[in-house]
Amino acid sequence: MFCKVCYEEITPDNVYHPNQRYCNSCGLNHAKYLSERRQTLNSLREMNLESKIIQTKYLIRQEVSEFGLEKVYISYSGGKDSTVLSHLAKSIYPNILHLFANTTNEYPETIKHIKWEREKNGTNVMTVIPVDAHGEIWNFKKVVERYGYPIFSKRVSNAIRTYQHALSARTKKNSEDYIERNFKKYSKYKELPISDKCCDKLKKEPLRRKAKELGLKCAILGILASESYQREKDWLEYGCNIFHERKDNQSRPISFWTAEDIQEYIEKYNVKISDLYSMGYKRNGCMYCGFGVHLEPKGRNRYQRLKETHPIQYEYFIKNFELFMVDFEVMVK
Ligand code: SF4
Ligand SMILES: [Zn+2]
Repeated sequence: MFCKVCYEEITPDNVYHPNQRYCNSCGLNHAKYLSERRQTLNSLREMNLESKIIQTKYLIRQEVSEFGLEKVYISYSGGKDSTVLSHLAKSIYPNILHLFANTTNEYPETIKHIKWEREKNGTNVMTVIPVDAHGEIWNFKKVVERYGYPIFSKRVSNAIRTYQHALSARTKKNSEDYIERNFKKYSKYKELPISDKCCDKLKKEPLRRKAKELGLKCAILGILASESYQREKDWLEYGCNIFHERKDNQSRPISFWTAEDIQEYIEKYNVKISDLYSMGYKRNGCMYCGFGVHLEPKGRNRYQRLKETHPIQYEYFIKNFELFMVDFEVMVK
């Protein structure tokens, strides 16, 4: 194996132990770099809201000057964070394009909010429906039936899909070992219809295809580094604006904001958000998605809550997916 920075051979006496893809000196340099980046992230987070707004607008302008206003778009989910991002971006570029990927698994309040943005708030939102390269239209039920249910977490579902689709006995054994090592608790579900393909089929691929069709070069995402360990790690490596470095250009101009900043902005600037939040929901993700469900309070998980807040959608869920949940040992009643 060779060091991913200097390409020198990695030997037992020249390996950086915490991350064995680096030789010792490159590993130490990288660790120093990450620790400086962490300090930068902490100082950005310590700024007050007005300074954060200035910084965010600067990042959006930087993206527009790099690619041109006609080549950038906001990846809009209708949630709180992307609504704050939209509000901010529109204060500089009122007609900036928003692409909303309708996964066919959206809360009615999300659809209602998108409609309001488009028809009453003058937001330039285009809805992207899940169509694949062959023109086939997809929906959540069809994805689940064809590929498997997105359950537990993206990583667990991915590991199980990899295991189930291994082409050789050796790969199968390796993926089985991987599950045993990293997700032992979920090993017993590995023969069940589980997969992480859903996001690709309903969200990522349709958005990518639409962006390509429209000649768009860079997405603006309303994600926060504080949302997950993976997002924070990604921020430390790449920062807010990632241009010409990875396969897709991205701008994440509010990534150093905290959930409290989002709330403060909404109140201070009187931003209208989806009604879902006043019904006790903290997120507006997909209604039937199973990612993270196992971490929710017993007796009050998303499906049990759906029963109270959205009885019609709950009934559809039970009719179509209850048997899956029985197998996954997820309570729905
Ligand atoms: S969030 Fe969940 S349900 Fe929605 S598209 Fe992604 S995997 Fe599918
Ligand atoms: Zn090296």
